[in-house]
Order: sequence, then C-alpha cells, then structure tokens
Amino acid sequence: MRLYSTNNKDLRVSFQEAVFNSLPEDKGLYMPEVIPTLDPAFIRNIQQYSLQDIAFHIAHALIGEDIPSDDLKALVKDAINFDAPVKFLDKDLAVLELFHGPSYAFKDFGARFMSRVMAYFSKEGDSLLDVLVATSGDTGGAVALGFLGVEGTRVTILYPKGKVSKVQEEQLTTNGQNIRALEIDGTFDDCQALVKTAFNDPSLAGELRLTSANSINIARLIPQTFYYFWAYAQLKSQGIDEVVFTVPSGNFGNIGAGLLAYKLGLPVKHFVAGTNVNDTVPRFLKDGLYEPRPSIQTLANAMDVGDPSNWVRIQDLFAQNIEELRATISSYTYTDEETKIAMDELFAKYGYVACPHTAIAYLAAEQYKKDQAGTYASVFLSTAHPCKFPDAISPSIFEKVTLPAGAEALADRAKLTTELPVDYDTFKAYLLANK
Ligand SMILES: *Cc1c(COP(=O)(O)O)cnc(C)c1O
Repeated sequence: MRLYSTNNKDLRVSFQEAVFNSLPEDKGLYMPEVIPTLDPAFIRNIQQYSLQDIAFHIAHALIGEDIPSDDLKALVKDAINFDAPVKFLDKDLAVLELFHGPSYAFKDFGARFMSRVMAYFSKEGDSLLDVLVATSGDTGGAVALGFLGVEGTRVTILYPKGKVSKVQEEQLTTNGQNIRALEIDGTFDDCQALVKTAFNDPSLAGELRLTSANSINIARLIPQTFYYFWAYAQLKSQGIDEVVFTVPSGNFGNIGAGLLAYKLGLPVKHFVAGTNVNDTVPRFLKDGLYEPRPSIQTLANAMDVGDPSNWVRIQDLFAQNIEELRATISSYTYTDEETKIAMDELFAKYGYVACPHTAIAYLAAEQYKKDQAGTYASVFLSTAHPCKFPDAISPSIFEKVTLPAGAEALADRAKLTTELPVDYDTFKAYLLANK
C-alpha cells in the first residue's frame, strides 16, 4: 500500500511510514494511492462471512502485502474481537451499535487496530514506542484500552481535570501496566497544546520515540470501514439490500470511513451526517464555502469540532466535486434542546436509551426519511454506550441504563493518575524523569 498527501500527490510513503508519521509534514492527510475495487462476488455473498472475515478481506485489499496475509489475519482477529450488531427499532429503522468494545465507544475499532499495527511494525530491538494522546473523553479510553498490554508500547494520556465523566475517567486511570494518565489542571485545548509542543520539541526527539494516536491516522480509518460492510451483511441476511447510513459526526472520521467503504464498492444508497451546532460541514454542503469556526460546547461533546480534520480526506475521495458529494451525503444540524427531545423520544417510542451523539444521528435519519421517501433500511450509528454520558441524559432515563459488567468493576479499582499544571516544562520534566 502506498499513500499520498492530500497536499501533494507526488509525495508517496509506505503504509508503515504513514502509520508512524500520522500526518505528512506538509500537514495534508494520507490517502491510499489506489482504492481497490472489491471482488463483486464478495459483496454478493457477504452475508456468508463473519465480521472478522470481512475485516480481513477489506484490510488485505487495502494494505496488500505490507503485512503478509497470515500475520494480518491474526492481527485483525486480535483487534476486532467484539461485535457490532444491527438492531431494528421499527420496520425500516435500525441502529448499528458500535459500543461493544472495551471503552464502549466506536473508537475502539480504530484504536485496537492501530495499536496492533504499530506493535507489528516496531522491530525487535526498537526502543519503547511512546504514544502521547490528549483527550476530551472518548479517544483516551479507546487508546488506553487499545494499547493496554501491547508489547513495546507505552501510552501517556492527558485529560482535563473534572471535565470527563466518571466512566471515562475510570477507563483512563485504572489500567496500570503500560498506560499512565495525567490529570491536567486545564482544558482539553491545554492538553492538546502540551502534546503538540512535545512533538515539536527537538530535545525530546532524541530521548523518546514519540508517536501520536491521532484520530487522523490511516490505521484508525481503515478498521472503521469494517463495520459498514458488516452492517450491510447483517441486513442482507434478512433480505434487505437498500441502506442509508446516518452518522453522528464531529471530526468526520467515522463517516469518512463509510465513504471509503462506498468507494471500495459497498452499495450504500446514501449517507447522512448529523452534527450538533458545530455545523461547518452542513454549511459547506449548503453554500459551497468551507468556513471553519471555533468549536462550541454541546451535550454531544465528542462532536464539538469547528474544523473537522477528516473533511479534507472526504473532499479528496470525491475529487473536490461538490455535486457528487451532495448526491452522496446529506447533513443536518441540531441544538442541545433538540438532542434532549430526541433522547426522550427514543426512550418513549422504542424503550431505547441513547447517548446524545447517537440521538443526533437518529434525528438526522428521521429528517432524511421525511425529505427523501423511499424503501430502504435507515440505519443510524450508535457511537457510544449511554453510561459514558450521565450528565447529558435525563435522570429518569439514565436510571434505566444497564451498566456493562466491565464498567461496574471499574469503579472498584484504584485510580492511578498524576496531577500536573498547564506548564510545558513540568510536563517535559515528567516525561524525562519517567522514561
Ligand atoms: C469521536 C466520537 C464521535 C465523532 O466521530 P468523528 O469520527 O470524529 O466524526 C461521535 N460520537 C462519539 C461518542 C465519539 O466518541
């Protein structure tokens, strides 16, 4: 597999380089040089395959021999070891649940696959791979649990003190082993700035083998295509082959992977993006102007993104053709008030407790159905288990949430964290003193 930078198509790197660099130096994003067309028989017979079979097939088609087949098969099997079931709420309405992995959010797909790819490409004798990550909640948990126990790696997570939920904090701080958590007395932006400064500090580069678990890493994007194929396989086994996917979107990595699946040949009728009031993409699709804005805080805080970094990738997939984009993606935007009403409605109508991100996808799916009548299964993606967002859900509904067994156990474990101020020199001294 070779990849180019969206800023310079002449710059080509191997899959391994793209994984360790995360971002090209020119600040574009890596894209596959070739998007292979899958064997039509694979799609025709997809209902015969398991999620792991499908994952291997797609990964192999994209990555090729950069990871030999037997190794890739074992890697996929180890990474994708939990299900992503499609559950019908109504005749034509279904939810694709992506929260059955260890951190109860869809980011587990990306983080588990990326951690294993990084470990695979780290040669014996290489020094410890130090992963630095800033999180506002969900990314950190997925990365911590994705890398937990993965040989040759160590993860340092920076999270804003008092600004993540209980389950999120427990997922960050109760791991031990190769995972350490830093509780920063500041905001998510402060955490991100500390990480960025560390990456750009030449005096650290000689001391530590630093890498980023950034959400734009190509090794996080690839595994997110798997569950679109798997959802389609589940529908097909019920005789359904017309599907519209609705994706709650912030950085547009999840829907970007869906669109990559589409370009690989997955027959999807249409994609719908639901956003909170951070509506840069809906505005772009409407008036053709990409005007990022500072992010606004909302109930669906994992989608508080004013300048979605994966959008460049989507534009590249569609060769900057806005008409083709508009024919493939619709988008709708919702306020917190509307999100709350949607969570209530999902519970009242279907007895379904959704996190605020998922509720936004539900709203967008229903809106699209009103705008575009037709016979198709409307599948919206559930990106996180509601137990991660207690403050965003009405108490009378939150009461009904069944905690996953693992989440209950977390509460009994010791919290291991180091408190640090927002100060780069202190952070750097910590890294050097704890090599
Ligand atoms: C990260 C996240 C999103 C946004 O996904 P993008 O790929 O950034 O669009 C949505 N919901 C939840 C729960 C998340 O953690």
